[in-house]
Parts: sequence; structure tokens; C-alpha cells
Amino acid sequence: MGIRQRERAPAAVPLNGRLFRLDEAGRPLLIGRRCPDCGCSFFPSRVICARCSRIGLEEVELSGCGKIWSYTIAHQAPPGAVVQPPYAIAQVELPEHVLVQSLVTDCRPEDVRIDMEVEIAPVKVGQDEDGRDLVAFAFRPARSPARNDDE
Ligand code: ZN
Repeated sequence: MGIRQRERAPAAVPLNGRLFRLDEAGRPLLIGRRCPDCGCSFFPSRVICARCSRIGLEEVELSGCGKIWSYTIAHQAPPGAVVQPPYAIAQVELPEHVLVQSLVTDCRPEDVRIDMEVEIAPVKVGQDEDGRDLVAFAFRPARSPARNDDE
């Protein structure tokens, strides 16, 4: 509204900086924890290893690619939702054997499948007071060139 943006485009900021950050390309990087004793990884962050009870886990960036482990289709959105139903909510299994709950974007809900390969993607959900994009993360079908077989 009358505000000129002559300077650099404002940076995007993560909706929840405890769960993920954004790399230079704006791609979300999930922040997990890894147990130095047993090697178990966790997301979201936690203090005590759920497997061996060690206290003090190291921060790790988790893989941005995974497979859909399970999913459900939402036909009604909760109040204030930024996506229109129907949409798919999936449990995505990362190579670190961590399950991440996420919206599935760039895909019709009826096309979501168990074991589908997905990659993380930013989803703009609004703007903060400084005009920076507020970004959430979601997963979308992985863009593998081997899968271009339209019917
Ligand atoms: Zn452990």
C-alpha cells in the first residue's frame, strides 16, 4: 500500500525457527537431533534420547527428501488454515528414520501414494510486520526426470 520496495527484496523467515531454517535458496532445512551414543535421530528437537535415554543430543540438519509412510486426506480445514481442502497430510519418512508430519503440495490429494518419493519445499503463509515472507515447509512429489510418463 504505497510502500515502495527499492531495496533488496526482504528475506523470508521460517514460520517456526525451532523446526527449520531456510538456506540461501530459500529451501527449508529441518532441524533435528541426533544421539551421539546410539545414532538415533529425532524430529522435532528433544533433549533426551528416546532410545537410550542419553541426555544431550547434537543438532543435525535432516535430509530434505523422503518417502510417504502414511497419509490422510483432509476434507475440512481447521479455522485459519491457509490451504483449501481437500489436501493431503502425510507422515514422511526421511532416510534418518524420522517421521515428519507435513502437508503435501504440488499434487492432487488423490494422487498421493504410500512410498511416493517427496522433497521438501517452502510454502508462503503470510508476511511479518517487516514485510518479510513467512514460510512454512511442506513436501511435494520429488522431481525425478525418470518419472515423466504422462498418460
Ligand atoms: Zn541414544
